[in-house]
Amino acid sequence: MPARDEGGADASPDAAAALSDALAAADGDPTCARCSKPADYFLYEPGRVETFVCWEHVSPFSASVDDEEDPPEGRPVALSL
Ligand SMILES: [Zn+2]
Repeated sequence: MPARDEGGADASPDAAAALSDALAAADGDPTCARCSKPADYFLYEPGRVETFVCWEHVSPFSASVDDEEDPPEGRPVALSL
């Protein structure tokens, strides 16, 4: 599948599905995995990372916020909630 720029900030279907599943599994408002604050982002790396984090904890784990076009190697993308 060629990667096409569709001009959108839309998350990939995989990431969107993972987020949807994680939200369903959260049973309420998701909270940060590093502290107990309400989560602001969902970190996602296919098959490796699926976790919620707050804005304070997103940057140490992801350098790619809402940008799946060219994610840094080894870093999950962060989808804003
Ligand atoms: Zn946090």
